Amino acid sequence: MTTEIHIAHLRGLLGAKGVLVGKGELASYQTGARGNGGAALFVARPTTTEEASKVVSYCSRNGIHIIPQSGNTGLVSGSTLDLTGTQAVLSLDRLNKRFDLDRDNRSLHVDAGFRLSEINRRLESEGLFFPIDLGSDPCIGGMVSTNTGGSRFLRYGDVRRNTLGLRVVLADTDGTIIDLAGGLRKNNTGVDWKQVFIGTSGVFGVITECVINLERSPRQTATAYLVPTSGAQVMTLLSAVEDTFGNDLSTFEGISGNAFRRTLEHLPAMRNPFESGRIPNYVILLEVSWPSLRLDKEARVEALLEAALEAIWEHPDHPLADAFVGRPEEMWALRHALPEGVRSAGTLISFDLSFRRGVVMRFLGFMREELSRRFPGVEICDFGHVGDGGVHFNLVIPREDRRLADNAFVEALREWIIDTTMRDFGGSFSAEHGIGRKNQAVYDRFTPQKLKAKALALKMQTSPSGLGAVRFN
Ligand SMILES: Cc1cc2nc3c(=O)[nH]c(=O)nc-3n(C[C@H](O)[C@H](O)[C@H](O)COP(=O)(O)OP(=O)(O)OC[C@H]3O[C@@H](n4cnc5c(N)ncnc54)[C@H](O)[C@@H]3O)c2cc1C
Repeated sequence: MTTEIHIAHLRGLLGAKGVLVGKGELASYQTGARGNGGAALFVARPTTTEEASKVVSYCSRNGIHIIPQSGNTGLVSGSTLDLTGTQAVLSLDRLNKRFDLDRDNRSLHVDAGFRLSEINRRLESEGLFFPIDLGSDPCIGGMVSTNTGGSRFLRYGDVRRNTLGLRVVLADTDGTIIDLAGGLRKNNTGVDWKQVFIGTSGVFGVITECVINLERSPRQTATAYLVPTSGAQVMTLLSAVEDTFGNDLSTFEGISGNAFRRTLEHLPAMRNPFESGRIPNYVILLEVSWPSLRLDKEARVEALLEAALEAIWEHPDHPLADAFVGRPEEMWALRHALPEGVRSAGTLISFDLSFRRGVVMRFLGFMREELSRRFPGVEICDFGHVGDGGVHFNLVIPREDRRLADNAFVEALREWIIDTTMRDFGGSFSAEHGIGRKNQAVYDRFTPQKLKAKALALKMQTSPSGLGAVRFN
């Protein structure tokens, strides 16, 4: 059958705006957050679960491979196509009508195409929010599919911990709809099927509706930059602030001096709070927040934080070298600008790694010594969620460096970082971004054969037709 026949059929199901084919119309769906991309046969844009089911069924019957796409902010080429021009995008961007708040259950049943910012904007007047925070603005379906972590994981967990239910369309010839959207907080009645679709990059089914847990919005928040006395003392510092603040601690983010400096150079309007423009070797962004008023309006939460930090200053192991309590908006603006700041510095080779918490700083210490010996001229600009063992391990190479033209050089560098992470430090090659095309080869290399076979069997049981960018065979 020709593409024209497919498009005419799908337009019959979705209307003219529901199927895009023109070059200009396809552009933003074909290009991912980092400029990577492929070529689309067409983009289908259902507005309901039932329409999504019809599209998936039609594509399954006609052998058209579908790539689910939501906000297209993913960083591992999971939402973009290959170069063959034979794959179609199933975009959830029009699936954004249902928004059913259940106040008693503190949950929200929402269509998968809602943006995170829109969800939180609508919840503001209720004093509630979806507690996953990150520097992009994804859709909830994409967040479930990638199991987004973000900067407040330490307090609220990841998307998995905050997902109470899903509706999913399976990629089979019927476009089977499975309803797991009961929204129960407790339910021990056999296999928890929703887990199959969380964090698995859209390979097992298309998520069309989500029931998510909501939290009470913080009413008072205080933030500080902490400078640890050394990398080795970061975990002592974390332990001290956990002892001090308990569940009120909502962020403990690490920022390398290089990432801090590169961002300030790129965005001069941002303020360096440290004396005489000094850039510390490593900075922690600390946030403490309270959902109920901890202090009366006159009292300053900053004073409370300062007093607590003074007590940590006296800690027998002396983990704290300097601290600066500042305005949350300013400090978060700098944190969210780090990806852009680091990218501006040169060509970026990035890794999204995780380790057991006590191992992260050891890994970073090892890399600071060893990388420059093996790969001179490569700058480490790491930052990330060190409080939960995550690190965005960014390597910056000057754009004019001739070695960048040599695939073997880049491959050797990548391979060494991944091997060291996995084999020597027991880490993960993808902390929170998923597999995608970018990590396919690493998945193939490091996943035990027996587990790969089980994943493939599950894929054949759920969505046997072509769905998603990751291969399990
Ligand atoms: C500046 C910046 C900062 C970021 N910071 C973080 C961070 O701190 N933590 C973090 O975890 N991530 C971060 N990310 C990555 C990204 O924003 C998240 O992975 C996000 O959750 C992806 O959601 P999305 O809606 O954009 O999904 P997309 O990019 O559209 O898709 C991502 C994957 O999910 C699949 N998918 C999408 N929708 C569906 C669906 N409805 N059903 C089934 N599968 C689907 C796609 O096929 C693809 O494999 C960041 C990205 C940027 C650009």
